[in-house]
Amino acid sequence: MNDGRPPFGRRIGIDVGGTKALGVALDEDGRIVAERRRPTPRGADSLPALVDVLVELAIELGEVDSLGIGVPGLVTRDGVLRAAPNLDGVADFEVGPLLAERLGHPVSVDNDGTCAAVAEWQLGAAKGEDDVLLVTLGTGIGGGLIASGSVQRGLNGFAGEFGHMVVDPNGPRCPCGRRGCWERYASGSGLAMLAREAATGHRLHAVVDHAGGDPQNVRGEHVMAAAMDGDDEALEVIDEFGRWVALGLSNLTNALDPAVIVLGGGLAAGAELYLGPIVRWFRELLYQPHLRPVPRVEFAEWGPRAGAVGAALLPSVRDASTAG
Ligand SMILES: [Zn+2]
Repeated sequence: MNDGRPPFGRRIGIDVGGTKALGVALDEDGRIVAERRRPTPRGADSLPALVDVLVELAIELGEVDSLGIGVPGLVTRDGVLRAAPNLDGVADFEVGPLLAERLGHPVSVDNDGTCAAVAEWQLGAAKGEDDVLLVTLGTGIGGGLIASGSVQRGLNGFAGEFGHMVVDPNGPRCPCGRRGCWERYASGSGLAMLAREAATGHRLHAVVDHAGGDPQNVRGEHVMAAAMDGDDEALEVIDEFGRWVALGLSNLTNALDPAVIVLGGGLAAGAELYLGPIVRWFRELLYQPHLRPVPRVEFAEWGPRAGAVGAALLPSVRDASTAG
């Protein structure tokens, strides 16, 4: 059993993003009692500086009983960050072992999507469920998976890279080198691409106005702004976007059969616009929806703090899952 309460008080979590590191301390009831942020060091020799920043943040946040770190990339089960496209110079960066040596106690490290999944599972939108799929819709797509009440990491720790499922082998090229990955369509940059395609076809006048008059400047926030005003063409783009999101969610549901799907990341800020189209298309695209309970689709509760909160909870869920 795991109720998210380890046998000690303060738990500290730090979420390392491309621009900032956000640290939180949780009390024994899971409330944030302290919060600090620092810019993420950039440039050629930024990794030793990043270790310094993480040590300083952990110490500033109080007596360190347990520390978890969320990182934006592929992280092995022993805390080595193999690759991280949004951090400079990362290749087999031993962030977990280096921090453990500096601080003198174990440090849990996991992917930021997995951390967000842990936060929503233990203390958020998926509380009380044992089978939880979390998908972050931001600049790209990340995610995490809880199955039968335990965090799933896969053989290497790399499970949850849902954004690079190919949904169209002839689609636009992805930074990962392949074509038609889900995140080309169903992320914030995907929404912008769908909108620019429509705008260069001489549609979306209201959206282009929000973008200062140039169709090539259209971004997701301009579509959202026009859609909030009730613009029909912007709402059509959001409907098309919702269909791409739902396509990936239906594939994941066929593979994983979750009870609840939690949507996090930057696009959660427009939940009221996106949820309707996503749920409608999801029900339409799902395999055998009349023969199965349809998973709930909800937006995340922890917003931009999900990664840090989940990182703080990592040591306790790891202990629980390894103790069986
Ligand atoms: Zn890709």
